Amino acid sequence: PGLRRLVVVSNRLPAALKNEGGEWTVKPGAGGLVTALAPVLRDRGGIWIGWSGASDPTVDVDGLLGSFSAKAGYELRTVQLTEEEVRGYYFGFSNEVIWPLFHDLQTRCHFDPGYWRTYLDVNFKFAEQVARHTGKEDYVWVHDYHLMHQAFFLKSMGVKRNTGFFLHIPFPTPDIFMKLPWRWKIIQALIEFDMVGFQTTQDRDNFVRCVRHFIPECTTEGDGAVVTVRTGSREFRAGAFPISIDFNQFANLATREDIVQKTFKLREALKHRKIILGVDRLDYTKGIPERILAIRTLLKRFPELTGRVNFVQVAVPSREDVEEYKDLRDEIDLLVGRVNGEFSFPGWVPVHYHYRNLQREDLVAYYAAADIALVTPLRDGMNLVAKEYCACNASESGVLILSEFAGAAAQMQDYAYLVNPYDLEGVARAVNRAFHWDKVDRRRMMVGLRDHVRSHNIFWWVDSFLQASFSTNLGDFPPV
Ligand code: UDP
Repeated sequence: PGLRRLVVVSNRLPAALKNEGGEWTVKPGAGGLVTALAPVLRDRGGIWIGWSGASDPTVDVDGLLGSFSAKAGYELRTVQLTEEEVRGYYFGFSNEVIWPLFHDLQTRCHFDPGYWRTYLDVNFKFAEQVARHTGKEDYVWVHDYHLMHQAFFLKSMGVKRNTGFFLHIPFPTPDIFMKLPWRWKIIQALIEFDMVGFQTTQDRDNFVRCVRHFIPECTTEGDGAVVTVRTGSREFRAGAFPISIDFNQFANLATREDIVQKTFKLREALKHRKIILGVDRLDYTKGIPERILAIRTLLKRFPELTGRVNFVQVAVPSREDVEEYKDLRDEIDLLVGRVNGEFSFPGWVPVHYHYRNLQREDLVAYYAAADIALVTPLRDGMNLVAKEYCACNASESGVLILSEFAGAAAQMQDYAYLVNPYDLEGVARAVNRAFHWDKVDRRRMMVGLRDHVRSHNIFWWVDSFLQASFSTNLGDFPPV
C-alpha cells in the first residue's frame, strides 16, 4: 500500500488571520506542533482542518488560506463558526468547563448546559468537514479537548475512518472527572477513537480508570507506553506520548551571534545577581501568585539573598476578555507591587515583571541568561517552557526547578529539582539550594536534561504517535 494521507484536525488552523489596518492577512503559526507536522503533511499531501479564528462572514477566508496552502504545500480546510458558536463551544465548554476541570480546579467550572449543546453542535460541524474532505484510506489525527467527539460523530454518520486523538492537557483522576455532568458522554465519545494519546502514563491510567468505572468488564493488555483496551463492543489503544519542542531550533537560536549579544546585555543589566526566571501564559493553572509569594518567602527566610537575586516573571497576555483572567492579572499586579514595596532598596528591585508577548529572540535571550528557571504550575499537561529553557541553556549551568504537577516532571525528574508549588517554604528552600549549588552538579543535571530533550524532541513525538497508531492491524505507515 502507498503512503496514507494524514489529516490533522484541531480547533485552530496552523495559520492565523489578522486584520491589520482594515486589511486581512494570513500569518503562519510558529508553535512546535506546526513545525513538526508541516513536513509530514507536505510529504504526504495532507490536510489540516480547523477554525480560522475569524467569525466575520465578509472575510474571504478560502481565498486567504488558498494562498497559504500553495506556499505550505498542504491543504487547509476551514470550519466557519459564528460568534455565538465560538462563545458556547470555545470560551464556554472548552475553556470554562474542560480546561479547569481537567486541571483539577473544579471550583472554577461553569457547568452550563447551553455550553454543552453548542459543544456538540460545533463538534458535529467539524466532523462533517472531516467526512467531506477525507477518504477511507486517510488517517485522521484529532488534537485536544475542543474536539473529543470527532470519532463518535463520524461513526454516527456511518463514515469509517482510522482515527487518533491526542489530549494536550492532563486527564484528571476519576473522583474529579465524575463531577462532570456529561462524563459518560465524553467517555463514550473518546473510546470511539482507534488511538487515544495522553502526555503521561498517569493521564492515560486516569482515563482507563474512568472507562472502567462505566464499563466494569473493560480489560487492558500490555504494560508499556501503549496498552490495548477492550470494552466488549470496542477495542482501541491508549498511550502516553509526551509532547516536546524543536530542540535544535531553540539551541541554535541561543548560540546565534545577535542573541548571544542580547543575552550578554541582559546579564550586564543584572550584574552580580542571579536571575530566577518564570515564563507563562497568564493563566490560573500556572501558579504565578504562589510563585511570587514563594519569592517573598525566599527573601524572608534567606535575607542574605537580598540584593543578590532578581526574579524575572514574563506573563504572556491570554484570554484577556475573560473576567477571571482580568482578576488574576490584578492579583499579580498587586502581589508584585507588595513584594517590591517590602524589599527593594536604591539600586535593587527584587521582582521584574513583564506583561507582554516577547519576540522569540528576546525569549531565548532570557532563557539563556537565567541561572534558575522556576517552572511551578499548579497543574500542566506538559509545560514546554521547561524544555525550551534547557534547549537554550548553552552554558549548561542553569538549574530547572519544576512543579511535580507538570507533565514534564515525569520525564525530567532525574535531573530537575522537583517541588510542590503550593509549598511556599519548599519552593523557597529549592531556590536557595539552587543558588548555592556547585557548578559541577549544575552541569551534570543540565547535561542530563539537554540530552533527554534533544533525543525526545517534537519530531520524535510525532513519529512515536504515528508509529504506535499503525503498529498493528491499521495498515502501513512508514517512519516519518
Ligand atoms: N511563549 C510565547 N511568547 C512569550 C513567551 C512564551 O509564545 O512571550 C511560548 C513559549 O515559547 C512556549 C509557549 O508559549 O512554547 C507556552 O507553552 P507551555 O506548554 O509552557 O504552556 P501553555 O501556554 O501551552 O499552557
